[in-house]
Amino acid sequence: MRLLITGGAGFIGSNFVHYMINKYPNYQIINLDALTYAGNLENLHNIERHSNYSFVKGDIIDRQLVDELFKRGVDVVVNFAAESHVDRSITDPDIFVKTNVMGTQVLLDVAKKYGVKKYVQVSTDEVYGTLGETGLFTEQTSLAPNSPYSASKAGADLLVRVYHETFGLPVNITRCSNNYGPYQFPEKLIPLMIANALSDKPLPVYGDGLNIRDWLHVYDHCSAIDLVIHKGKNGEVYNIGGNNERTNIDIVKTILHELGKPESLIRFVSDRLGHDRRYGIDAKKIKTELGWQPKYTFETGIKETIRWYLDHQDWWKRIQSGAYQEYYEKQYGER
Ligand code: NAD
Repeated sequence: MRLLITGGAGFIGSNFVHYMINKYPNYQIINLDALTYAGNLENLHNIERHSNYSFVKGDIIDRQLVDELFKRGVDVVVNFAAESHVDRSITDPDIFVKTNVMGTQVLLDVAKKYGVKKYVQVSTDEVYGTLGETGLFTEQTSLAPNSPYSASKAGADLLVRVYHETFGLPVNITRCSNNYGPYQFPEKLIPLMIANALSDKPLPVYGDGLNIRDWLHVYDHCSAIDLVIHKGKNGEVYNIGGNNERTNIDIVKTILHELGKPESLIRFVSDRLGHDRRYGIDAKKIKTELGWQPKYTFETGIKETIRWYLDHQDWWKRIQSGAYQEYYEKQYGER
């Protein structure tokens, strides 16, 4: 089996590359990643020389490059490549439409040209918009995105649907809730709060801190995608979530408590524009139809994750200090 994984140098993509190489050492994995600010080859340093793994630096919107990769043979595509940070989408939406919508269209088009056994689009629960105090997102919930990020992901999802309905491409869309775990870029809530707490810097919390997210360990997201690749029914959407709804302020207090730091480090800041109040996933379909079960409870997962960031301070400090850029230039001569 030859897999093209896009965005495999980012947070979830790199965890997925690790997961697949460990579980299926005979699969060939091509990782196509543009190495934007969020891509980091250090996430993959221990598998760079694995004989069934290769890395290609490039943009998913580069049709010629994508065509060349498919020409060499691709059975399965898993598209993680995206601009993924909601705050950045509010200040600079253009690149979100370019990468997330137009880049996806290039991948779909080339996959259609050469034919694939499966195309998996890694999407997000944010395409459903926001929930009130009750209810959960199911696969039938209407798309109602509220940020340029989620609108661009919803646009991509609709294109994926179309390539199945119109051209018969064997696709699946997965919509996952918020992930946490190793290798998450330290601009996102959990690693940012851990890094700030360890440096005794203020922990900025949006609005009243009562926005609710449904947290899933990245390992469990990877195991769900693995099942979708091998067992997913073509054309179907699968929601993925861990049934772990937590307010942001709860998460921040848990981190401070685990690190033995005072709550006086918390600083409430002006709310994010269009900030969705609550996300909650109903993952019944993937559990009953594909037999998915998450391995982590939030309590064990968050402790293990905090430990990981404590043990890998060099990793996130290099990113924060810009030293990662120097590493890359030394290693590859350019960025
Ligand atoms: P990330 O920002 O950590 O990684 C994105 C990766 O994509 C980076 O390595 C980046 O270099 C690469 N990339 C960006 N533009 C590219 C382009 N034009 N061509 C090739 N590579 C490009 O993101 P993440 O948190 O790992 O998310 C991965 C995917 O999962 C995204 O599609 C995101 O929408 C989705 N998702 C994320 C979460 C979450 O909680 N992080 C939840 C649900 C879904």
